[in-house]
Amino acid sequence: MAQEQNFHMSAEELRRAGYAMIDWIIDYHERIEDYPVLSQVAPGDVRTQLPATPPQQGESFDVVMADVERIILPGVTHWQSPDFFAFFPANVSGPGILGDLLSSGLGVQGMIWATSPACTELETHMMDWLVAMLGLPQQFLSSTAGGGVIQDSASSATLCALIAARERATRFRTRDQGLESGLVAYASSQAHSSLAKAMMVAGIGRNNLHLVAVDDQFALRPDALAARIARDKAAGLTPFFVMANVGTTSSGALDPIRPMGEICRAHDLWFHVDAAMHGSAAICPEFRAMHDGVELADSYTFNPHKWLFTNFDCNAFFVADRAALINALSISPEYLRNAATESGAVIDYRDWQIPLGRRFRALKLWFVIRHYGVAGLQHHIRQHVALAQEFAAWVAADSNFELVVTAPLNLVCFRHVGGDAVNQALLERLNATGALYLTHTRLADQLVLRMSIGQAKTKRRHVLQAWALIKQISAELRQSSQYANL
Ligand SMILES: *Cc1c(COP(=O)(O)O)cnc(C)c1O
Repeated sequence: MAQEQNFHMSAEELRRAGYAMIDWIIDYHERIEDYPVLSQVAPGDVRTQLPATPPQQGESFDVVMADVERIILPGVTHWQSPDFFAFFPANVSGPGILGDLLSSGLGVQGMIWATSPACTELETHMMDWLVAMLGLPQQFLSSTAGGGVIQDSASSATLCALIAARERATRFRTRDQGLESGLVAYASSQAHSSLAKAMMVAGIGRNNLHLVAVDDQFALRPDALAARIARDKAAGLTPFFVMANVGTTSSGALDPIRPMGEICRAHDLWFHVDAAMHGSAAICPEFRAMHDGVELADSYTFNPHKWLFTNFDCNAFFVADRAALINALSISPEYLRNAATESGAVIDYRDWQIPLGRRFRALKLWFVIRHYGVAGLQHHIRQHVALAQEFAAWVAADSNFELVVTAPLNLVCFRHVGGDAVNQALLERLNATGALYLTHTRLADQLVLRMSIGQAKTKRRHVLQAWALIKQISAELRQSSQYANL
């Protein structure tokens, strides 16, 4: 009998291409410093090299990989480069890569416990481990009324917190009957944009996010928060949600959690703590002061996919009262009914997130934690913080530059004293060299450069090189006619 036609990749071909892919990834990481950190392509450069129509007949994988080298790599900004100091780290690791690969290979859909018990139970266990590793309060353990869940991003975590808060404040009616008016939320003027977006998506409206004044270190002022809540209540509005950033994306400012939490308790408001990047530092006990008062939080989130060597996507989201979250988000169609769910003995994480489907993301976190151990993770976090503090000291000692805020951890905000135009030119010339990648922010209406240190392979020599280049290019700028008055 003739063999049935089949276009799948054969087991032999997958084995060959798979080993070659692992080799390719390892070689890429070894040669990563040879590439310009920031992709230098112009808009459209990648697309013009792609055929207008898809191939009618399948192609060999080797041909595809050749196009990865030729078309894709030039259009990649190398986030894993040790010279990547932009935005925030999105660091990866060997065990993280292997965990993601295994998740792809298993191809599990973990929407409910019954669709793969290991996917749910490993996730519950990892979230409990993180509570211990970061010294988070007991209310976030799965053995309490609360618990943790892996989300795709901190933005999703904050949206889920906001929706749970909306339902708690409107007695779980809004999800069925639509929105009542008058709800208002609060965060500092430095808060991450994901909260404004969550207000839009949750039907509350971004104009009802009231931004609260900050102090000279750009941290929220509790007195201003209390005053604004009192004013809004007197005006007949319904405050329901407060978010603290620990720290802010712009400058790493640490909002004061304890006084904010006390205000939330006094007014019965949902208190959400977004520690997306800086939260990872709590794995080191000496950096936990930033979490003082976190036991007052209704929800807490941080990103192992930023600064804990776990490949994107892996966000950890904890709630103190899981019923509020589940009652806000659960929906049970007939085709997903099953005995385990009905018994109430299992967790169905579909009810803790916006989408139904979910990948087996706990695997990579498990691999990372077991590979490094807590001590290994602490070592690398400490090293990044020490490098950032050393860089901050160099800036402070150079009269051409100034620190804009005290750098609490691994993010240094600084500027050339010559003004915005000089800093803009400095940033553009630095990034055009390809030797590093830095980004900027605005603080107190001034252009500020951000040095974010957290890539897995960043060592002291990379930070030294970056500082030497920053000084060299600023000296060149001073000599050019345009900035002659410097
Ligand atoms: C990076 C960041 C976010 C967004 O994280 P995503 O996982 O990309 O959604 C939110 N808040 C803060 C404070 C951040 O630093």
